[in-house]
Amino acid sequence: MRWSKSLIPTLKEDPADAEAISHKLMVRAGLVRQLAAGIYVYLPLGQRVMDRITAIVREEMNAIGGQEITMPVIHPAELWQASGRWGTIGDEMFRLKDRYQRDLCLGMTHEEVIAWIAAREVHSYRDLPQLWYQIQTKERDEARPKSGVLRTREFVMKDSYSLDRDMAGLDVQYEAHRQAYCRIFDRCGLRYVVVESDPGMMGGAGSHEFMAASPAGEDQVALCGACGYAANLELAASRPPIPTFPAWVLEEVATPNARTIAELSGLLQIDPALTIKSLVVMGGAGPVLALVRGDQQLRERKLERAMGAFRPAHRDEVREATGVEPGFVGPVGLPIRIIADECLRTGCYVAGANKPDTHLKGVVPGRDFQAEFADLHEANAGDGCGRCGAPFAVERVIEVGNIFKLGTKYSASLKAVYLDEQGQERPIVMGSYGIGPARIAAAAIEQNHDLHGIIWPETLAPFQVHLLVVNAKDPKMAGVAERLHADLSGAGLEVLYDDRDERPGVKFKDADLLGLPLRVTVGSRAMKEGVVEIRRRRTGEEMAVPPGEVAGRVRGLLGRPA
Ligand code: ATP
Ligand code: MG
Repeated sequence: MRWSKSLIPTLKEDPADAEAISHKLMVRAGLVRQLAAGIYVYLPLGQRVMDRITAIVREEMNAIGGQEITMPVIHPAELWQASGRWGTIGDEMFRLKDRYQRDLCLGMTHEEVIAWIAAREVHSYRDLPQLWYQIQTKERDEARPKSGVLRTREFVMKDSYSLDRDMAGLDVQYEAHRQAYCRIFDRCGLRYVVVESDPGMMGGAGSHEFMAASPAGEDQVALCGACGYAANLELAASRPPIPTFPAWVLEEVATPNARTIAELSGLLQIDPALTIKSLVVMGGAGPVLALVRGDQQLRERKLERAMGAFRPAHRDEVREATGVEPGFVGPVGLPIRIIADECLRTGCYVAGANKPDTHLKGVVPGRDFQAEFADLHEANAGDGCGRCGAPFAVERVIEVGNIFKLGTKYSASLKAVYLDEQGQERPIVMGSYGIGPARIAAAAIEQNHDLHGIIWPETLAPFQVHLLVVNAKDPKMAGVAERLHADLSGAGLEVLYDDRDERPGVKFKDADLLGLPLRVTVGSRAMKEGVVEIRRRRTGEEMAVPPGEVAGRVRGLLGRPA
């Protein structure tokens, strides 16, 4: 492709609103432009990168038996009402009405539509398993679209859905996806970890996220260098440092107005790790007291895992359940269900006394109160790994893909059933699996760039070769470059030919910014010594090669000998 006839609007300056490196470089290299908040145009180079990624994804999905379909972007409200998500998803869903005032929404994801298809087209156990996927546009009114294409309100997703007779079948398709995802991210040249995650709004029986390391990431993972344990910080199991416990005897202490852990530990001059934080929440079966150590944070997702859905209790609900105002609540003598964090299995603490302006000092869990124990606390950098105890590292990451075991949540509500061998009706067991190609592109840039620009992994580069003629006006030089363009293209390579009548400095800067794997430069040496220069973008390594040998050398350097 000739640059002089292309739309590659490179910029010298970073866009004013950009923080993430990938955002800056994608705009400066002319890959994308923002039309509105979180809504992007992909220009020719950006589109080529997306095409490369989706081609890899398509190959790997086909290799595990995926069948490609395309589902609509506009959905009738009835589907989402049937699954219950019309009510549970809030402002993230774009909703609209048609000319007859019927409710519609823009698809954020397609579990409902898949269940609708399955309800009509899958009849018997002989029709299962199935694996359907699409590479299609999703619409989500994200609260904070940011970091360029990393979080947008319109984006392409590869979403696939497995349908099986039972959990054993789901396990097989889930594992096939896990492996296919690893191949996809390996082929895209990403450094990533696979972590146990939080099923969130999908619901279901298990899920993993594929996380690419980057300071631009919005997620955090806990990583153990010793045993390899990796988990989203939301759910990571950790062993916080254990304080030295004083030999207190059980007694009441006056703590006027000391409602928070900071106020309490300040007043008593003690380490917050020697206190118990007591929180009353409302679950399906009434009030529950959740306990974590005073220096720890309660992770809502972990508590939800332990007791099901809950909400914080209102002030009067706290008073009714404990007889006291929030701030003085504690576990001793409290006749409601108590769930305590694992850290509280041992030790001696200060906790609320369920009396105004009073705490109990010397509380020993197991002796002074009984509780169920569960992992409730947030993991922190410096904690011990929950599996082996070695120190954790916490790293920022970009979620590039995830896989969920859905089970029968959607098939049950949308009546996607099949008849088993005995002629019995059963709900189809589903899995759902997503990948964001734009996030792969941005993550690849986050992980592969230098001061001068992008350094594309070969598999994602919009072109493999950047052919540059130093002086396009010199007929002899241009002649050599034209012949090389024909040679390289003839050898099956994709070439961006910078034939612009621009200053050499500008052209070299742009070549570095665009970051194609190999640059072939036709300059004065071509005239004087009969050689052109091949330069590797990643290493800066240069070779002088006679024009007739360039195509062969380039193929060799790209690992594709003729
Ligand atoms: P996040 O937690 O980052 O919002 P999600 O859990 O909502 O992601 P899914 O609904 O599971 O993501 O979507 C599957 C994949 O689609 C994600 O792994 C990511 O690669 C991509 N993706 C999700 N939301 C966006 C977005 N707003 N912009 C770009 N890509 C996205
Ligand atoms: Mg999201």
